[in-house]
Amino acid sequence: MTRVTINDTTLRDGEQTAGVAFTAEEKLAIARSLDEMGVPEMEIGIPVMGSAEIEIIRAIVNLKLRAKLMVWGRMCEKDIRAAARCGIDFVNLSLPVSDIHLKNKLHRDRAWALAQIKECVPMALEHGMQVSVGCEDSSRADMAYLFEVVDAAQSAGARRVRFADTLGVLDPFMTWRKIHELRMNTDLEIEIHAHNDLGLATANTLAAIHAGATHANTTVNGLGERAGNAAMEEVVMGLRHLYAMNTGVDTAHLVDVSKLVAEASGRMVAPNKSIVGSAVFTHESGIHVDGLLKNVLNYEGFSPSELGRRHRTVLGKHSGVHAVRDAYDRIGLSLSSEAAHYVLERIRRHAVQTKNSPGAKELAEFYIESTYCNDLSL
Ligand code: MN
Repeated sequence: MTRVTINDTTLRDGEQTAGVAFTAEEKLAIARSLDEMGVPEMEIGIPVMGSAEIEIIRAIVNLKLRAKLMVWGRMCEKDIRAAARCGIDFVNLSLPVSDIHLKNKLHRDRAWALAQIKECVPMALEHGMQVSVGCEDSSRADMAYLFEVVDAAQSAGARRVRFADTLGVLDPFMTWRKIHELRMNTDLEIEIHAHNDLGLATANTLAAIHAGATHANTTVNGLGERAGNAAMEEVVMGLRHLYAMNTGVDTAHLVDVSKLVAEASGRMVAPNKSIVGSAVFTHESGIHVDGLLKNVLNYEGFSPSELGRRHRTVLGKHSGVHAVRDAYDRIGLSLSSEAAHYVLERIRRHAVQTKNSPGAKELAEFYIESTYCNDLSL
């Protein structure tokens, strides 16, 4: 298995989500969980925000985790000085590389950005930090200029470049082509930082890895600015099942860390969220339940046991007689064929009226009805 390195930024871009702010205890708990499950790298904060943030970062450093820790700053002296106060040995220094950002955001030009890299990367190295050059808005940058940026980064002593699809405007084909060209033009580590504005962050991250990116910047539950970042749980499972790539992340803990981050961020996980959603291994439709009961491989792309989960069947509008009889068998009630049809109709009516699956109490009621109804037609 080829290796790819997850760099999880739940504690930086994840916390940057509008309205999300973790307490120190929450940041420590999330860092510990990510480390325990084998996440090899994490980006844990923005030192230039001030002393309180630096204190939390230092507290995480003091946990002496196995994971390599990184902080985020802009490509300038002030941010490098703040990062140097954290006792950390890796910093991502970000600067815009698209003309639209350079001109309209910073009122600077391409030459200025190259000069900043030449000046700032050695400064960070002198403070004992390894450097990733974060190329903001890479997607909209002129590729020829991006190669110049990457050259400048390498000459200045950086070990990595981060290709940021800051606005989530790429698709997997464009991502593959750009990362492939970048791979042909540099020996540096390449990290992909994808956003989910078009729902493509995970797909773009996988495309980038396929094209030669060595690192994937992810967040738990896909937390992050606007529509968020590539979800760690999706990238880890996608790499394993589609590319046979091992990330070293123990997938049995994905649901737990998802719950921890959902609670700390106040951003609940949708029931149908891939991998970690509460309903993604729940089956109702008669055809699917019947297929699963016959052989689980009929309707299983990967085993929920990889996540410490199991298939669950519920009864509802799309249930069939087979599933109904199976459910009653499991609570020790055997249904005649007539009773099963009666109960199925009651379950369907219940599902439509309540938008819910019947619980044990309702099932018992339907059963009793089925035994005293002489006329079983409804
Ligand atoms: Mn971002």
